[in-house]
Amino acid sequence: MTRRLTEPKIVLASHNKGKLREIQALLDPFGKTCVSAGDLGLDEPEETEDTFAGNARIKAHYAAKASGLPALSDDSGISVDALDGAPGVYTADWAETGEGRDFVMAMTRVWTLLEDKNAARPRTAQFNCTLCIAWPDGHDEIFAGIAPGQVVWPMRGDHGFGFDPVFQPDGHDRTFAEMLPEEKQPLTHRADAFRKLVAGCLREN
Ligand code: IMP
Repeated sequence: MTRRLTEPKIVLASHNKGKLREIQALLDPFGKTCVSAGDLGLDEPEETEDTFAGNARIKAHYAAKASGLPALSDDSGISVDALDGAPGVYTADWAETGEGRDFVMAMTRVWTLLEDKNAARPRTAQFNCTLCIAWPDGHDEIFAGIAPGQVVWPMRGDHGFGFDPVFQPDGHDRTFAEMLPEEKQPLTHRADAFRKLVAGCLREN
């Protein structure tokens, strides 16, 4: 039996502004008061697992324990079929420079690898998202979502974050970065996982 999230206040266990914006928008209709891990001055735990679920658990349990509140985390990334699922769980790492993250560099690396392999088109890919709610007593619930699409080049659009300028979701001719937030939101891997979270933890009965 999935545990319901009855507490009025939760902590969003992320320091990523793009993710926080999207999670907050998804939670708004449910009347929960949300604080972010950054607002509470919490550190970012190291993501040492090699699965989305493993890293989502690390982040949510860390924030729940440190804050005494239920914590909602997101671990996500883009998996490119012709690259055997890379960068996947390591999406953020591919943007790491030592002085912050450079997603233009990471997107260029993905496209260069596809070109080097002369990969067939469309260059199919999916965004993955695993959401974890952890409670201070150690219980957790996990929900996974996907957004199928393809990697395109050159980068297009100024909205969104991360890999949005090179990801074109199935059934659309614009990238996530060319869409307004309210257009992107229902199509995302995050919204897909969130729909399952709502059914499991926020449903009326
Ligand atoms: P992590 O979950 O902290 O390991 O980071 C996942 C990375 O995947 C983020 O830093 C983003 O670059 C990328 N990512 C996740 N979701 C999205 C999205 O909706 N749009 C674009 N990039 C995303």
